[in-house]
Amino acid sequence: MYKAFQDVISNVSATVLKHEASLGRPVIGVMPAYFPMELIDAAGGYPVQLWGNNLPIHHADAHLQGYCCSVARSMMELELRGSAKMVKAYAFTTLCDTLVNLREIYNRTFTKPDVVLSMPMTRTMEARRTYLKDGLKSVASGLESITGQKITDESLADAAACHGRTRELQRELYQIRRDKPGLIKNRDFYSVIKAGFFLPRAVYNEMLSELIQKLAPLEAPEGKRVSVVVSGLVFDPIDVFDIFDELGMDVVDDDFANGWRTVSKDTLQTSNLVEGVARYLYEAAPCCCLYNADNDRHDYLVEKVRSAKADGVLFWYINFCEPDAFDAPLLKARMKEEGIPNSSIDIDLTTTNLDAVKTRINAFAEILEG
Ligand code: SF4
Repeated sequence: MYKAFQDVISNVSATVLKHEASLGRPVIGVMPAYFPMELIDAAGGYPVQLWGNNLPIHHADAHLQGYCCSVARSMMELELRGSAKMVKAYAFTTLCDTLVNLREIYNRTFTKPDVVLSMPMTRTMEARRTYLKDGLKSVASGLESITGQKITDESLADAAACHGRTRELQRELYQIRRDKPGLIKNRDFYSVIKAGFFLPRAVYNEMLSELIQKLAPLEAPEGKRVSVVVSGLVFDPIDVFDIFDELGMDVVDDDFANGWRTVSKDTLQTSNLVEGVARYLYEAAPCCCLYNADNDRHDYLVEKVRSAKADGVLFWYINFCEPDAFDAPLLKARMKEEGIPNSSIDIDLTTTNLDAVKTRINAFAEILEG
């Protein structure tokens, strides 16, 4: 049932090249996170989400400090090795200082064009709209000059419907997992979500829709297993999910930036694009990288754990990710106050020996079983 999704993520280059040829659209690499990919599709581009990779770092260290997160370092490595030749341009956001600086370094090191969506870090919706107004104009004209195609009301509405459908289907998949823990192996679930980073929307939507139809009549396995909610920026290395599977644990929900924090975003409203993007960014699940005092991450995570009936929370920390590190102490303190057991793993995307991570997860599972 999951082979087609696994094939995509085990050979990303072949997947992207195949679809680039059939679509005849320029591939635009979307750097994490929350860039509205609807804009890229509407301008005639083929958006591919780049959340880092597991390449051993050989070249990137000449450009980035060793204490830079492995998302940024592995992306730089990909380009320096010449392994991202099919990516014609990049779309950045200003989600964190690392990404802001990464774009500067890309501009000085490579010749590929890019666009950048500056994220408003302001208190009110009105201030966010004001801030986004000019930024969105520049993103749209930048994309149009990369693709040579104009964004029209129609192309924007079509792209919004298609991407909105993707997230709607993914939310259905999340609901199946919450309702039937253990039905989908942890590794399989995240293979399905990850495949969506690289496939054109129409292709992915069809695959996802077929999968959901197959899963809907199936029952969850009998018996209660240890269940957790996992919180972090990026759900890689994906091999960590094999550990949960081996230990008989169920991830019943998540709070990943490339998981639920993105999946929870509603269909982009395009009749007033500035308003639509402001809502798209700030009205879904909260994120450590998006300042929004009205959308509290602590209450949200407590509610997530309770509604998923999870036994605890595992924080999945990508080393040197400052926004995540800043939020972690208060989040953990709140979990403690609420009596929700929690633990954490520290990891790099490039980590290949997962023995220490396995020991940590196993110890947490034993605590939860106790
Ligand atoms: S992992 Fe953290 S520091 Fe690295 S790019 Fe993402 S948000 Fe920024």
